[in-house]
Amino acid sequence: MSTETVSTTATTTTTTTTAGVRSVEGIHKSARFHWVGDGFFVSTYFPSQKLPAERVSPFVLMDYGPPKEFAPTPKGKRGVGWHPHRGFETVTLAWEGSVAHRDNAGHAGTIGPGDVQWMTAASGIFHEEYHDEAFTRGGGRMHMMQLWVNLPSKDKMAKPGYQPITTADIPRVPVAGGGHVRVIAGEHEGARGPARTFTPITMLDAELHAGAKLQVSIPSTFNALAVVAKGRVRAGTSTAGAGELILFANDAPGLEVVAEEDAHVIVLSGEPLGEPVVAYGPFVMNTVAEIEQAISDVNRGALGPIPD
Ligand code: MN
Repeated sequence: MSTETVSTTATTTTTTTTAGVRSVEGIHKSARFHWVGDGFFVSTYFPSQKLPAERVSPFVLMDYGPPKEFAPTPKGKRGVGWHPHRGFETVTLAWEGSVAHRDNAGHAGTIGPGDVQWMTAASGIFHEEYHDEAFTRGGGRMHMMQLWVNLPSKDKMAKPGYQPITTADIPRVPVAGGGHVRVIAGEHEGARGPARTFTPITMLDAELHAGAKLQVSIPSTFNALAVVAKGRVRAGTSTAGAGELILFANDAPGLEVVAEEDAHVIVLSGEPLGEPVVAYGPFVMNTVAEIEQAISDVNRGALGPIPD
């Protein structure tokens, strides 16, 4: 990934507004799929020209890997070896399969189905991201997403951190009409997600039965999007199927999604940072000078040694 040029062009579909409910600004399909290392077959939905930084902030990148079958492999590792990050957080969600993480700040963990790993790179870490060894040996389906959550300028050089969030830590709120919402970050109907965030973020993982309506209340100034992982949903007068991303307009506090069939939907929302985004490879900073500093710091070993 190179430095992104921000486009102000948005895909406009419908502007039919019910009072208090956000309209849909655009429905976005996946981009071309690519391998991250040899373990993660993903589409990078953003950054992209159609989903510019200011419409998805505080998120800066979303890689989504729909369910994919991996054959058993008796030995070897599948994934990405040691690489640096600075200036943001990586948030990895696994619904199927198992991802193992290790970083040079001393954190390590495995996330399995329903777990979330919230890693704060901030001032800088090296980490590796592989399929869990047992999963590699046994094979199976991998279904995951990785988000890059931007940090405000004042926190970009904060100490690195790590939050292993297991499925048991995540509160579940029933949805009228059938299904449930898992509250990973922020608040939903009185339930508070376990993730500690630097800026206000609401992250929900919803399983909806056909006909169920998910209603979420978030400030209208927050950016908001929903990814359909399974099934088909309706938002306003638009519909979106598996693999599509719904970008909501910032025109009302309420967000509504109705399941037209059994559906799995991830809702991502947060307060936009309103700061310049200069992203280059594994670094997300505010200025080109800060990117140059990050590269220089990595080259002179300032991010610490890489473990064996
Ligand atoms: Mn990484």
